[in-house]
Amino acid sequence: MRVVNLTPKSAFRNPQSRGVEMEKIRNYINGRWLDAKSGKTFQSTNPANKNEVIGLISKSGRDDVDLAVKAAREAYEGWRLTPAPRRGEILFRAAEFLLKKKEGLGRLETREMGKVLPEGLGDVQEAIDMGYYMAGEGRRLSGETVPSELPHKDMKSVRVPVGVFGVITPWNFPIAIPAWKLFPALVCGNTVVFKPASDTSVCAARFVEAFIEAGLPQGVLNLVFGSGGEIGEYLVSHPEIDAISFTGSWETGKRLEAVCGSMHRPITAEMGGKNSIIIMDDANLDLALDGAVWGSFGTTGQRCTAASRLIVHKKIYRVFIERFMEAASRLRLGDGLRKETDVGPLINETQFKKVLEYIEIGMKEGAKLVLGGKPYSKGICSKGYFIEPTIFGEVKPEMRIAQEEIFGPVVSVIKTDSLEDAIRIANGTVYGLSSAIYTQDVNNTAIAERDLESGIVYINAPTIGAEIHLPFGGIKQSGYGRKEAGGRGGALDTFSHWKVIYRDFSGRLQKAQIDKG
Ligand code: NAP
Repeated sequence: MRVVNLTPKSAFRNPQSRGVEMEKIRNYINGRWLDAKSGKTFQSTNPANKNEVIGLISKSGRDDVDLAVKAAREAYEGWRLTPAPRRGEILFRAAEFLLKKKEGLGRLETREMGKVLPEGLGDVQEAIDMGYYMAGEGRRLSGETVPSELPHKDMKSVRVPVGVFGVITPWNFPIAIPAWKLFPALVCGNTVVFKPASDTSVCAARFVEAFIEAGLPQGVLNLVFGSGGEIGEYLVSHPEIDAISFTGSWETGKRLEAVCGSMHRPITAEMGGKNSIIIMDDANLDLALDGAVWGSFGTTGQRCTAASRLIVHKKIYRVFIERFMEAASRLRLGDGLRKETDVGPLINETQFKKVLEYIEIGMKEGAKLVLGGKPYSKGICSKGYFIEPTIFGEVKPEMRIAQEEIFGPVVSVIKTDSLEDAIRIANGTVYGLSSAIYTQDVNNTAIAERDLESGIVYINAPTIGAEIHLPFGGIKQSGYGRKEAGGRGGALDTFSHWKVIYRDFSGRLQKAQIDKG
């Protein structure tokens, strides 16, 4: 196989060019693209065609992480003192760059992660939206000014950066999730060491390129590739890191929370979900069906907010499940770059095997397999990790397939006889990320809104579709620490500290709560 040793920039200009079989992707540390010190590499491949290698990636070790953290530490003072509106201008230019490159980036996402092209483009758009939004925050980042109880004294709160952030991201939104973290981290004045998911390393390099093109000073953003268990964990426990922002599985997140807890280090962790859609007997059924199909099988079910449980009122259960099966059976599997494809592959062999194991578990537990359940290998799909859209009926809420995150195109349909029971089932897992209800009764919507235990609730829409300017994140086992996205109450609170300043210009000692002025 020919290795094309292109600079990231020229490789980006023509990612599909003939003869370019794979790109060499290096770490980006202190303003330079560098091979890992060991010289080792690993491959990133196309999950729709495992023979297609997308990139040959530097496999970093601890010394590469040390170098990246040192660069971020050294750049911190200069970046912290750069006026926030100037920081925002750089981020604005990065968003403009992403907009210019949107089509190429979207196609790259489809090749490296497998999601269908419209979703790949949507992922890039989310990053652009976050870029513009956070660029504007450069001129706000506002605190409070409040009157003092004493004369000749003023007081205010201001946001200050936290320091050097370690950022670790998953593969399912390879550009949007890094954008959720990097744009707010940088506008707040932090510097960053970014370790992306190994499976989507090329997307991460292309994304970081936007910041370089925008003129971000060297050392402010550093990128290291390599195994999470090796360099990710080392980064999280590195003595020169001030805080961690992580998105990924519960298993990894829980482990990292323990590491950070023992070091008194702030961590925000966004993790898995077991999200449900409640469909009441008065729902607009056509709308609910569209939402159930998109929520369950969009991104091949590989969204943290994917609907993996449909809780359906018994009065409409039979008709719903028949129509749902019929709609899901029409979904076409294939390479996401093809216009006709509705559902792409699973990300990798591990995920492929895990999903098949859960299908086995579901059958052993006595759930009724009503659609799919097998790998799909017709035509071009023989080269990728495809599994048929799979529906289990007659699922009991306590079954493992209704409790554990599968992260694939597998959905459990559960019967309910009332709103109260439906909410009890929806809340009956360790997760609490996203939930939804389809009903036309305004009172039902109010009760669901109040009682569903999840960070996000959708009314008459599926469990997916968050917008970037409100906080995003889960409760219970789905989230830990502060929130992603949004401004105040969300990302800005994650990536900055409050500092409170009291200024006494009376020229004498005044005692709060004691002197009456
Ligand atoms: P993962 O295995 O936990 O990996 C996430 C990231 O952590 C990757 O960069 C991974 O590196 C790294 N990592 C793995 N083990 C590590 C360790 N011991 N120390 C430090 N870093 C480590 O999760 P995933 O399979 O990529 O992503 C799927 C999961 O993410 C699902 O559970 C999904 O629900 C969740 N997710 C949550 C949200 C949300 O906002 N709540 C959004 C998207 C996804 P490598 O790639 O090198 O292994």
